[in-house]
Amino acid sequence: MNLILLFPEDFTGAGEVRLHDRRLTHITEVHRAEVGDCLKVGMINGAVGQGKVIAIDQQEAVLRVNLTREPPAALPLTLIMALPRPKMFKRTLQTAATLGVKELWLINSYRVDKSYWGSPLLEPAGLQEHLLLGLEQAGDTVLPQVHLRKRFKPFVEDELPQLCEGKRALLAHPYDAQPCPKPSDEPTLLAVGPEGGFIPYEVEKLVDAGLAPIHLGSRILRVETAIPFLLAKLFPIGP
Ligand code: SAM
Repeated sequence: MNLILLFPEDFTGAGEVRLHDRRLTHITEVHRAEVGDCLKVGMINGAVGQGKVIAIDQQEAVLRVNLTREPPAALPLTLIMALPRPKMFKRTLQTAATLGVKELWLINSYRVDKSYWGSPLLEPAGLQEHLLLGLEQAGDTVLPQVHLRKRFKPFVEDELPQLCEGKRALLAHPYDAQPCPKPSDEPTLLAVGPEGGFIPYEVEKLVDAGLAPIHLGSRILRVETAIPFLLAKLFPIGP
């Protein structure tokens, strides 16, 4: 937790928050904070700054907060992912949030097991838990928007072409693809396949919608490895 995220309900007075949950545990056990210490804090979907500890015991920490700076810049990216199995999905969600993804579309594909769509991870609370862990890691505050699309064809035919407009639209695919392009700040849409890969019909539909296949070399990477590798290649390192 490199940043303590604050929510409107934490505020008990102007600029004063009271924390009781896992954030209190973190402040006491990891920071070992004492009265007078300053911690990095950020308002959910808002500014970041410092929180000065003005009281702390086993029940609560009271912080006086001063939020003065913008959170780190977002990636200009719309990320489309075939829904991974839950264990990998947790890690991938956190990584995507840490890397600055703000628009995430989870889609179906022939090789996505139907049972994955019943995972509690896809409930708003499940998504939020892992997105918050990713934001806390990065020192970011802005929650990514997550869109779920359980049907591949209507998404690819009816929504994807508009999502691609004005963007470099790319499909990560190890076969019959161009090498990954150079880093650029331009708005980008990137689709990443399921663990078994997109089937040829799906690749054809994605290409018809305007996506250009790109590869990362002949090594086949896990989704959780491919995503950070792709984002590191496609975007310049921020300030
Ligand atoms: N057995 C699948 C195949 O051969 O296509 C492997 C799929 S891989 C585990 C999951 C996804 O990660 C792929 O659909 C692709 O989007 C991305 N990926 C993995 N390695 C890649 C590479 N070398 N180049 C481009 N994309 C890659």
